[in-house]
Amino acid sequence: MKWSRSFIHTLKDDPKDAALKSHKLLARAGFISQSAAGIYDFLPLGKKTLDKIRRVVKEELDNAGCQEVSLGVITPSELWQESGRFMKYGKELLRFKDRKGGDYVLSPTNEEAMVALARGRVSSYKQLPLNLYQINTKFRDEARPRFGLMRGREFLMKDGYSFHATEEDMLREFALMEATYRRIFTRLGLDFRAVEADSGAIGGSGSKEFMVLADAGEDTIVVCESCDYGANIEAACRAAPKYADFAVNFDGEIHTPNIAAIADLAEFLKIPARKTIKAVVKKALYDNGAKICLFFTRGNDELEETKALNAANANELADDLESDLASVGLSAIAGFIGIDFAQKDILKFVDSELANEVNMITGANKKDYHKVCAKITESEYNFRDLIAVQKGDICKRCGGKLNYRSGIETGHIFQLREKYSKPLNATFLDENGKAKPFVMGTYGIGVSRLIAAILEQNGDEKGCVWGKEIAPYFVDIIVANIKDEMQKNLAEEIYEKLRAAKLDVIYDDRADSFGFKMKDFELIGFCYAIVVGKVANEGKVEVIDRKSGEKNIMDFAAAIEFVKKAAL
Ligand code: ATP
Ligand code: MG
Repeated sequence: MKWSRSFIHTLKDDPKDAALKSHKLLARAGFISQSAAGIYDFLPLGKKTLDKIRRVVKEELDNAGCQEVSLGVITPSELWQESGRFMKYGKELLRFKDRKGGDYVLSPTNEEAMVALARGRVSSYKQLPLNLYQINTKFRDEARPRFGLMRGREFLMKDGYSFHATEEDMLREFALMEATYRRIFTRLGLDFRAVEADSGAIGGSGSKEFMVLADAGEDTIVVCESCDYGANIEAACRAAPKYADFAVNFDGEIHTPNIAAIADLAEFLKIPARKTIKAVVKKALYDNGAKICLFFTRGNDELEETKALNAANANELADDLESDLASVGLSAIAGFIGIDFAQKDILKFVDSELANEVNMITGANKKDYHKVCAKITESEYNFRDLIAVQKGDICKRCGGKLNYRSGIETGHIFQLREKYSKPLNATFLDENGKAKPFVMGTYGIGVSRLIAAILEQNGDEKGCVWGKEIAPYFVDIIVANIKDEMQKNLAEEIYEKLRAAKLDVIYDDRADSFGFKMKDFELIGFCYAIVVGKVANEGKVEVIDRKSGEKNIMDFAAAIEFVKKAAL
C-alpha cells in the first residue's frame, strides 16, 4: 500500500470522552471511529488488525477440530422464549418487531440459535462430538458503553458451542479449549491468566475466564502469590480465616442507641468487627415478581454481589428498596436486623464461614438494640459462600497469600451441560437407543475487545505496539524526502521487493516531513520502519524496531533480509 493512496487519518488530539490509553490510541491512530455510543466503525488499519486477530483465533480453533459457521445476527424471539432466557436476559437484550409483527432479538450470544442448528441434524451419538463456532457481530445494549472497544454495544465475538454424548467427553473438550485459548493468547503476545469464574446469565457450572493483566481492567481477579490459583473475585474462595478466641461478655439485649454501622458497633462494644454479624438487605428480581433477601456475613467481611445473586437465584439484585422495606416492616429496624429475623416470603442466606460460630453480636430485630446470638447451626440456616475475598487472605489450595490484580476479560469458557439442550429439547439417541439432551460446552472470545486489551498491556507513550501477527502493516518504508529521486527510487525498489516477498508493507511516499512520518509510524505501531534517507546514495537505510526502539544502519539488501527474517 502506498500511503498517499491510503485511507489513513491520524489525529493530533485524543478524543474528548476517551479515558483509557487504548481508546485514545485507537482513535488517534485512525483505527476506529465512533458512530454512536458503543458503536464503532473500523477504518482500514483497524479492520486489518481485527482480521489478523480473527485469523489467529480461527487457525487455532480449526486446528483443534472446531468448524466455523455463521449464524444470523438476528434471532427469532421464540427461541429465547423456549430457553426461558427472553425475560431473564434483561435490558441488554435488544428486542424488536419486524413489519409483520414478528418478534426478534439482536443476538448478544447465540446458545439458542446454535442448539436449534444442531437439533434435528444431529440425531445419533455417532455424530458426536461436534464443536461449532462463529466470529461475528454481537449486540448488547450495555448500560454504560465506554472505553472504546473495551465495552461496546456492537462488538465482534467468537462464540463456540460443543455438543457431546457424555459429561466426560464434554470435560475433555473443555480442557482442549482451555489449551487452545492459551495458545491463542500466547500467540497474540499477551500476559494473561486463566481464572475460575462465575457463569453469569449463561448459566451452568465450571467456567474459566481468560484475563489479560492490565491496570485498566474492570475485573478484579484474586491470584495466589505461591501457587497458580486464580479466580475472578466473583467466584474466588479462601481458606476460612483462623481467628483467636475473643470473649464477648454480654447477656441478652444490649442497648446500642443509633449505632447501626458495624465499625461504630465494634467500637461501642469494644469488640473486633469479626465478632459482629452484618446484615445486607437486597431486593431480588425474578421473572414473575420480587422478594426481599437478607444476607448475613461477618462484620469485617464484604458481601460479594455475584455470589449473593447466585444464592438468591435471581435475575438481578436491587438496592433501591426504601418503600419495599417499609412494606415488610424492616425499615423501622434497619441497622438492627438480626440473623434470626424470620418472616414469610423473606429469603435469608448466611455466609458459610459463620457456621457453628458462637458468641456473635447480631441485631435484636428492635431499633437501637443488639444481642448475642445463639450458636449458628446448619439446621437453622441456609449457608452459602457469600463473601468477597480480601487481599492478604489465605489460599485454600496451598496456604499462600492471596492478592488482587486487575484483568480484562477477553475469553470465557463454560461447561454448559444440559442447560440449553434440555429446554430446547435438543436430543440425540445414545448407544442404547435412548433419547438424551446434548451435553454442551460454550466458549467465547472478545475479538474486538482484544484489540483494546493488547494496547492496554503493550501500548507505550509514543503509541500502539503490536505483535508481528497482528500489526496492521509489518513494515513501513519511510522515504525521508520524496523529492530526492535517489531516495525515492531506492524506497520503491525496497517496496517492490518486500511485496514480492509477500510481506505486509506500507510505503510512506507522502510529501510530508520526515519527523511527521516518524510520528505516524510510532503512533500506529508498525513493527519495523525502513528509513530511506541521507545515506541512500551509499545504498544504505536505517531499520527501526518499533517495540525496542533499536536502530541499525545497513545495506538495503541486508535490511530486506532482516525484516524478512523477523517476519517468520
Ligand atoms: P463482561 O463481564 O465484560 O460484561 P461477559 O462476561 O458478559 O463480559 P461473555 O458473555 O462471557 O461476556 O462474552 C464473551 C466475551 O465477549 C467476553 O469474555 C468479552 O471478551 C467479550 N465481551 C462481552 N461483552 C462485551 C462488550 N460489551 N464489548 C466488547 N466485548 C465484550
Ligand atoms: Mg464472561
